[in-house]
Amino acid sequence: MERIAYINGEFVPESRARVSIFDRGFLFADAVYEVTAVIGGRLVDFPAHARRLARSLGELSIDPPADAPDLLSIHRSLIERNGVEEGSVYMQMSRGAADRSFLYPHASESTVIAFTQEKKIVAHPAVARGARVITADDLRWQRRDIKTVQLLYSSMARTRAAESGCDDAWLTEDGVVTEATSSNAFIVTGGRIATHPLDRKILPGITRSVVIDLANDGGLKVEERAFTIEEAIAAEEAFMTSSTTIVLPVVRIDGVAVGDGAPRPVALELRRRYLERLSDG
Ligand code: PMP
Repeated sequence: MERIAYINGEFVPESRARVSIFDRGFLFADAVYEVTAVIGGRLVDFPAHARRLARSLGELSIDPPADAPDLLSIHRSLIERNGVEEGSVYMQMSRGAADRSFLYPHASESTVIAFTQEKKIVAHPAVARGARVITADDLRWQRRDIKTVQLLYSSMARTRAAESGCDDAWLTEDGVVTEATSSNAFIVTGGRIATHPLDRKILPGITRSVVIDLANDGGLKVEERAFTIEEAIAAEEAFMTSSTTIVLPVVRIDGVAVGDGAPRPVALELRRRYLERLSDG
């Protein structure tokens, strides 16, 4: 059965959702996106995703094609039309179609598309065994705080990880871990949690921010500071966060066990609290 997708004001079967060959998202990666998790048929932290999307558009001077309430109703309608219980809604906005030119066009209408994907989030298969990661140089552009569709390097690194039997790559630059290909990276060392500070080198993850709040509320110390791969390998724990994986324990980095090589208590406890928060809400 075909999914129902959203494109520029219409809900259509996915095979009928088409964009122009001149779309700047296609030609220049001139587009931004969000992925919002769906758990129990409900969107998780939609307002934070809508705020980040508005910021990404602003940083690229793309006129916002819709406001947050309209975006929310598109998301809800897609969940309902596709009967999604658990998974995500992907939404992308490009600057629109215009004859190919490096200059931003004067007038172009944003292309807005959205679709759903079903995925196990609560019972994510990598939680029980823990994730294994490789390391790779962070060769992405220098505005990683903007959530653009320019994901080729991340896709290369993730594919390389999979080819060596791993789940993801932790990216390093100037000797420190920035983040993973689509998650924020954390370690626990000396009983304190550390994660890269918010700047242009990483995406300000929604899950990162919720997990920091949960840790602080639970009396855990969190330091937003850079850390090295050596520090991560020697840490008591390592984990990563994203909307569709929540908190994923990392048990091996470049083949070396972190801690005892099994998922560890701080990561598992933060994951439990995150899920508890959803059932409270
Ligand atoms: N970093 C990168 C590079 C990402 O692509 C993502 C996922 N979109 C994240 C971190 C995690 O962000 P979030 O918790 O908002 O899903």
